Amino acid sequence: MALTGIQIYKLLPQTNCKECGFPTCLAFAMKLGAKQVELSDCPYVTEEATAQLAESAAPPIRLIELVGEGHQIRVGNETVLFRHEKTFYNRPGLLISIQDTLDETAIEQLAKTVDAYGVDYVGVDLRIDGLAIEATSGDAARFAEAVRAVRRVSDLPLVLVGEDPAVLGAGVELLEGEKPLLIGANARNWDSMAELALQNGAALGATAASLEELAELTEQLRSKGVEDIVLHPGAARMGPTLAMQTQIRRLALKNFRPLGYPTIEFVGGSDDGRQQAVLATQAISKYAGLVVLDAFSPELLYPLLVLRENIYTDPQKPIQVQPALYEINNPTPQDPVLVTTNFSITYFSVANEVEGSGIPAWLLVTDAEGMSVLTAWAAGKFDAESIAKAVKQFDVAARVERHDIVLPGHVAVLSGELEEELPDWNVLVGPREAVDLPAFMKTVLSEGSTVH
Ligand code: SF4
Repeated sequence: MALTGIQIYKLLPQTNCKECGFPTCLAFAMKLGAKQVELSDCPYVTEEATAQLAESAAPPIRLIELVGEGHQIRVGNETVLFRHEKTFYNRPGLLISIQDTLDETAIEQLAKTVDAYGVDYVGVDLRIDGLAIEATSGDAARFAEAVRAVRRVSDLPLVLVGEDPAVLGAGVELLEGEKPLLIGANARNWDSMAELALQNGAALGATAASLEELAELTEQLRSKGVEDIVLHPGAARMGPTLAMQTQIRRLALKNFRPLGYPTIEFVGGSDDGRQQAVLATQAISKYAGLVVLDAFSPELLYPLLVLRENIYTDPQKPIQVQPALYEINNPTPQDPVLVTTNFSITYFSVANEVEGSGIPAWLLVTDAEGMSVLTAWAAGKFDAESIAKAVKQFDVAARVERHDIVLPGHVAVLSGELEEELPDWNVLVGPREAVDLPAFMKTVLSEGSTVH
C-alpha cells in the first residue's frame, strides 16, 4: 500500500532545511505522496527510511526500456492524467509491423525503409522507434528467418508478436544482449511465456479483454518473477479502447499496482488509411506507451510524429535554438541583418523563408528564453537593449559592412529605442509574418541599403 503524506513525513528528517525546494518536510512529504517529486530531491533520507519509502517513491507507471542494437525505447514513468498538471515524460514509441509471411527480400526492404526514415521538424530529428515482427506463419523456422532478415538491415528495438512460446522462442534467442518485448502472454500461455521472457531478459506483454483479467494476469506474471510488463488491452474498437486506456491510467495513478505498467496498441486492421490515422492519433493522445502501425506510410507518419512531439514537449520548457549570428545563403558583409528570437518554431519559420528565397542574409537570434517574438516582447525578454547586447555579443558590426538591421514587424514599436541603442545602424521594420520576408527583402532591402 502507498503511504499517506503524514506517514511519509514521519520517515523524513523533519529539519525543514529547505534544500529540496520546499519550505517544510511536511510540504515535501505531501508532494512525494502525490508522486509530484522524487525522493532523491531530499539528500538527508536515511537508508532505512528509503527502503520503507520505496513503494511511495516508485513511479505509478513502471518505466520499461526496450533495447535494440544501439537504440532504445523508454516508455512509462508517467505521473499525471493531463499534461497541464505537470508534464508527460516518455514519448510513446511508434513501431511498424512486419509479417513473417513476407519473403525475406520484402522483409529486408521494409525494415531498411523504416530504419532510414527520418524528418527534420524545427531542428528535431523525428524517427520511427522500432519494428514489431508478427509470427503470422505459426512456423518457428520462418519466424527466426524473419528476425534474422530484420537484423541484417536494422538495429531498431523489436517487439515479437505471437501466442506460441516455441515460435517466439526461435526469434528471441537470436537477440542476445538486447531487450525485446514479447507479445503476448494470455490466460492460457502465461506460465511458459513468463519463463521465456525471464530466460531471455525480455519484457512481456500481457493480453486480456477486460481490466479485471489484465490485472489478474499481471499478478500471475509477477508471481513468476516478471517485473517488466506491458499491458495489451484487447478491445477491438475505438470507444472501448479509449475507455480501457483511460481507466488503466486513472487506476495506475491511484497506485493500483496490477495496472501500473505502460500499454501497447496495434492500430490498423483495415485498408482505410484514415481509420488507422484516427486510431493512432487517439493512441498517442490517450495513453498508449507503444503504438504499432500495420503499414509504413510516410504521409501518415509525419503528422503522427509531429503530434507526438507537440504533446510530449514540456510546455514549460520551450524548444530553443542557440542564440547566435546565423548565415543564410552564404551572406557577404554587404548583406542585411534580420533579428528574431530563439524560439525554435520562430527561428525555423524565418530561416526557412529566407533560405527558400535564395537571398543572402544574416540572422541574429537573441536569447529570449525560448519565447516567440510577441511573447518575449511582452515579457521584457526581447527589447532594444537585448538586441543591442546581442549585436555586441556576436560581434556583428565587425562581420558586416552594411549596417541595416531589420526588426520583426510585430515589434515595430522598438525601432526608436533601437536607433538610440545602435546609432551607427539603419533600423528597418520588417513584415509581421515570416512568409512576407522574401518580398520585403526583394523590394525594401534591395533599395534601402546603408553602407557604412
Ligand atoms: S531536504 Fe529533506 S530534510 Fe530538508 S526540508 Fe526537504 S524533506 Fe526536509
